Amino acid sequence: MCGIFGIYGAENAAKLTYLGLFALQHRGQESAGIVTSDGENMEVYKQMGLVQDVFSDEVLERLKGEISIGHVRYSTFGESSIVNAQPLVVGCSKGKIAIAHNGNLVNGNFLRKELEAEGAIFQTTVDSEVIVHLLARSRKREFLPALTEALSFIKGSYSLIIMTPKELIGIRDPFGFHPLCLGRLIHSYILASESCALDLVNAKFLREVMPGEMVVINESGITSKKIHQSERNALCIFEAVYFARPDSDIFGENMHKVRMEMGRQLAREKPASADLVVPIPDSGVSAAIGYAEESGIHYNLGLVRNRYVGRTFISPTQTIRNMGVQIKLNPIDDVLSEKRVVVIDDSIVRGTTSRKILRLIREAGAKEIHLRISSPPIKHPCFYGIDTPTREELLASNHTIEEIREYMGVDSLGYLSISGLLNSVSKDNKGFCTACFDGNYPIR
Ligand code: SF4
Repeated sequence: MCGIFGIYGAENAAKLTYLGLFALQHRGQESAGIVTSDGENMEVYKQMGLVQDVFSDEVLERLKGEISIGHVRYSTFGESSIVNAQPLVVGCSKGKIAIAHNGNLVNGNFLRKELEAEGAIFQTTVDSEVIVHLLARSRKREFLPALTEALSFIKGSYSLIIMTPKELIGIRDPFGFHPLCLGRLIHSYILASESCALDLVNAKFLREVMPGEMVVINESGITSKKIHQSERNALCIFEAVYFARPDSDIFGENMHKVRMEMGRQLAREKPASADLVVPIPDSGVSAAIGYAEESGIHYNLGLVRNRYVGRTFISPTQTIRNMGVQIKLNPIDDVLSEKRVVVIDDSIVRGTTSRKILRLIREAGAKEIHLRISSPPIKHPCFYGIDTPTREELLASNHTIEEIREYMGVDSLGYLSISGLLNSVSKDNKGFCTACFDGNYPIR
């Protein structure tokens, strides 16, 4: 997963991009980068680390120009190293371009091998570089037709922000897997993964970039074109379950509201007799509020989160994931002791983290634990840009609900159904990808 941000026509473009990336930090914590253009030259700065650690005032001062794009990265393809940090900046037959990509190309490896066989030399191991090589090889002389042609070869998920010395371009793949929105700040236009990035820079949300749409922003204003069509939408429902920030509006819905509805639906589908509803912070909070509202069971905080520890799911190694629980969460014994507790979380992936958290709750004196999950069991890996592990490592892919209950050490376990999830996210069927739950992959 990654977060991307771009701005056209702002004096302080680099500083606004910094703020935008700061708001999108939850989408990637491995590296951060910003590229600016003054109309002719591009300046780039990228490093491993968090946005606030990567960019100093001095660095931002050096990044001159009124157009800028930025990227925060969490690697799902290509190793975690500075060479793979984005935006990628290249000079090619079509001029200088910078590219920031959120997603995963399912035919990236295949195209890379073909291009290498024809003599292409790759500088990174990220699949986004394939797009650059396809663009450079196009026989079309104009930039936009060449870009459109390059995109016709790639398959998978891609929300892209591309910058030329004089233009900013936003593209969403034909299935619309991951979000991309368009905003306005006085005379500037902004593209961002989520609307929370627009809020931070006081920009107005205009609309989402549609699946298959290319938006071009330059001195003539903004133009839009549908460049690719697919037979269906496949909006990533996991964005709504977990990934996007609760204060973001994506896929036409507010994520906090959607998650509360998931909690309400979960209470209807999987009720429990209990004294308290307790969220696993922060990911279970919105759904727990909804569950408590619908069930009439009192909501309380049973676990307190250390705000200075990153999200466990994002930690790239098992060692850090294992350490994360103790560092991250502390139970409140006074709240949990001798209580029958409904514990709400958004999902179970490997289950190792959840199990440790539940043990903390038991050790704090909870009399009964009823675990409720505001999404269906994750049984299949994702190939479209969300870091789920292999099928063997996914707890629900090779265990029954009863086996999972036992492994978790809880008194009862209930998941939200797929139809309950879909209805909670949107009443009008917008077309979602649910492959990690049902194995129904929109692209092979
Ligand atoms: S498989 Fe799951 S995580 Fe991946 S795009 Fe589809 S819904 Fe999202």
